[in-house]
Amino acid sequence: MKGKLEAYDKSRDVDIFYMLVETSERERKKRREELLAPLGVKEFFEGGDIFIDKRICHGVECKLCIKACPTNALFWSSGEVRVTKDLCIYCGACVLSCMVDHCITVKRKRKNGVVETFSTPREFIILQERINAYKRRKRAEELPKT
Ligand code: SF4
Ligand code: SF4
Repeated sequence: MKGKLEAYDKSRDVDIFYMLVETSERERKKRREELLAPLGVKEFFEGGDIFIDKRICHGVECKLCIKACPTNALFWSSGEVRVTKDLCIYCGACVLSCMVDHCITVKRKRKNGVVETFSTPREFIILQERINAYKRRKRAEELPKT
């Protein structure tokens, strides 16, 4: 009897945990939609994250990432680059323009579940080339056979 009660309590804890996670995820998505809608920006990714290594950032001498960001997710405050994560669409423009390798890391998840991570312009360009090659191959496969 005691064992059954313990099992019940644990599964309820798990349910509550997942409910809380789902609710906060729903609220986060709603907040993002509200922030991004006025910008007319389309979201291509299921989710993602961005990390800036402030120890190696050239900051005040640079700010290239801030200029490159299409959503103004990056901004300068109290002597460092900061990010409003809810505005980031994981496009990679900041990584592409950053003068320091591995200073900005972007991780993003495509709708098909594929996760991409990059932190240098080279990695970003290689990834983009791979995606373009895949799209070209797909288009070629769809052409009528003669
Ligand atoms: S990934 Fe794109 S949207 Fe996100 S901070 Fe960098 S430039 Fe801005
Ligand atoms: S582009 Fe890179 S080095 Fe320059 S401010 Fe942004 S994060 Fe720092």
